[in-house]
Amino acid sequence: MPTELKIIQPSSPERSDVCTYMWACAICDEMETCQKDKEGHSRWLVAKRMERIDYKILVMSNKGGVGKSTMTTNLAISLALKGYEVGICDMDIHGPNIPKMVGAEGQKLKISTGGGIIPYQVYNLKIASMSFLLQNSDDPIIWRDAYKYEFINQLLGGVEWQDLNYLFVDLPPGTGNESVTTIDLIGEVTGCVIVSTPQEVALLDSRKSVTFAKDSEIPIIGIVENMSGMECPHCHQPIEVFRKGGGEAAAADMGVPFLGRVPLDPDLVTQSDYGEPYALFHSDLPTAEAIHSIANKIDEFCKRRSSLVHVPSRKPPFKKA
Ligand code: ADP
Repeated sequence: MPTELKIIQPSSPERSDVCTYMWACAICDEMETCQKDKEGHSRWLVAKRMERIDYKILVMSNKGGVGKSTMTTNLAISLALKGYEVGICDMDIHGPNIPKMVGAEGQKLKISTGGGIIPYQVYNLKIASMSFLLQNSDDPIIWRDAYKYEFINQLLGGVEWQDLNYLFVDLPPGTGNESVTTIDLIGEVTGCVIVSTPQEVALLDSRKSVTFAKDSEIPIIGIVENMSGMECPHCHQPIEVFRKGGGEAAAADMGVPFLGRVPLDPDLVTQSDYGEPYALFHSDLPTAEAIHSIANKIDEFCKRRSSLVHVPSRKPPFKKA
């Protein structure tokens, strides 16, 4: 029987420098001769997990509240609907919202009999998030960087992601520890999607994300302009709440692809709050069309890239949703 996973607080006497990945020896070809220390062992385990995932996609922005988690969830759903095996790694340690957006708030992760963490499965997605480890959803995580490093290792290497076509990593805002460590551990990131809203202050931040991705040598799949205008529900005239077109202009200016605009849509908020991913239920409304079109562009990018760079083939899609 799988046992429930507990979070070990930084101050807990249960935490020590002893290697916590010994159980992984069972899946190692070198178990007889292994000389790795804890750091080496955890890196090896992340590499082993990542080997089985075709495309690792980072969703990022330098600003919070622009719709990263919303886009991550809906883009992942869109690709799962095409029949791909998709996972979401919610790397937002302080504000883990993905479980809420898929109706899985309050769920707990279990440990498999093999010792790995079983990702939570919902809507054909595999999900791992700090949210599943909190006893109470109001509990804040107050951690220094060393503890985050350990946790990021666990989310990438401790979780039994198994064979996936896509792993979306929802990064917290900014270009700090979580982003740097994630990129370092994954090693070969397939590409990143930068989410922005159209107004100047948000664009200023997303330009930093572009520079960060370029400096980190991560291919930029493109910029998404989220909350890009809306239709007045009464007179059907367009309203540009956060202005419109800024994301596209910034993409052109910085020489990176533009993936499309997603309108500001109250239904997207309502369905996220209810835990029902919008893209699962709609296909022909403008917001849904925008999301599915962006997901298709991500898919095209990854396929193009795997024909240029050798990506071990798992012949996607595995099965029809
Ligand atoms: P982030 O991950 O960047 O912090 P979230 O995805 O949590 O942002 O989104 C912040 C809020 O904005 C959520 O309430 C979400 O439902 C809402 N939201 C995101 N995108 C849209 C959109 N296109 N239209 C309306 N609301 C949106």
